Amino acid sequence: MRSRILFNEPMSSHTSFRIGGPADVFVTPQNLKELKKIYHLCLNEELPFFLLGEGANSLVSDRGIRGIVIDLSLFSGSFFEPEKELFGVHCGMAASQASLAARYLALSGMEFLYSMPGSVGGSIWMNARCYGFSVSDILAAVELLDDNLQLRRLRVSPEEFGYKKSPFQSGNSIILKGFFHLAPGNKEQIKDKMDQYKQDRVEKGHFLFPCAGSIFKNNRDFGRPTGKVIDSLGLKGYKIGGAEISQSHANLIVNTGKSEAADVLKLIEFIEEKVYAAFGYKLEREILLIGEWSN
Ligand SMILES: Cc1cc2nc3c(=O)[nH]c(=O)nc-3n(C[C@H](O)[C@H](O)[C@H](O)COP(=O)(O)OP(=O)(O)OC[C@H]3O[C@@H](n4cnc5c(N)ncnc54)[C@H](O)[C@@H]3O)c2cc1C
Repeated sequence: MRSRILFNEPMSSHTSFRIGGPADVFVTPQNLKELKKIYHLCLNEELPFFLLGEGANSLVSDRGIRGIVIDLSLFSGSFFEPEKELFGVHCGMAASQASLAARYLALSGMEFLYSMPGSVGGSIWMNARCYGFSVSDILAAVELLDDNLQLRRLRVSPEEFGYKKSPFQSGNSIILKGFFHLAPGNKEQIKDKMDQYKQDRVEKGHFLFPCAGSIFKNNRDFGRPTGKVIDSLGLKGYKIGGAEISQSHANLIVNTGKSEAADVLKLIEFIEEKVYAAFGYKLEREILLIGEWSN
């Protein structure tokens, strides 16, 4: 097997939070044949496994991950299917890079993903959303490797998705490719939109410290974004260990240097308690807790 296989690999090197203990086994398959072998082994031997995109929505515990992490980063690249008029992207490509590739083809619709951390596979799985658009708004089909090791191309429609919810969250399938419906556009206008989105993220402090984006989902019933709810309690800058509620956006927790995953979780629970006590709102977490947690 030519795949890279690492043992006790620190997940802090593979998450946007720069936090996370060791994965027992960390495998980076080189191609589909090798991915199938590894996936088959996991399913057959009932080995726990975690599919890793860019780790941009994942908080990995300090004790790390028992089992196998399958790193999909080498499944990269994009292409255009003229007969179906769909823009295809492999799962491991950064969503932001995919958006750039679409721009080079003068295809509009993927601008909102520019400068958002995360892979295309992870963004489909999460149904990532920003600037008024969700991935499901432009997703026409996916290619999956299902748990019978069959390759399947499935057409999808927005109704199968919800706010930050995708049908793939309830299964074991590996998303190999996404096929997107994009419209012909003007390269300069596409670039302008992308620049605006990036600038907005810069102004919100997204790239100042390692983080994993919004910790909690928004909820229409709150009448305002969750960040504003947390901010109204004066919590910006509140710190536990090395984890801090971002000074620039209250729905972000940042790793100021040496934060442990436990610090971040304590801070998450602290925010949940404060918001519940003040408003009776139960916050819903967007961040995924991955690996071995004690409770
Ligand atoms: C600075 C910053 C800003 C952010 N802003 C936003 C934002 O505006 N909107 C938003 O929605 N999110 C945002 N996020 C969160 C994150 O970027 C998205 O959730 C992104 O889609 C996660 O992709 P990923 O590849 O990093 O997923 P990962 O964290 O690697 O994985 C997330 C989940 O997807 C699964 N998965 C990954 N790839 C596959 C695959 N190929 N097949 C099957 N399952 C897979 C994983 O197993 C895991 O369960 C932000 C994060 C950061 C750090």
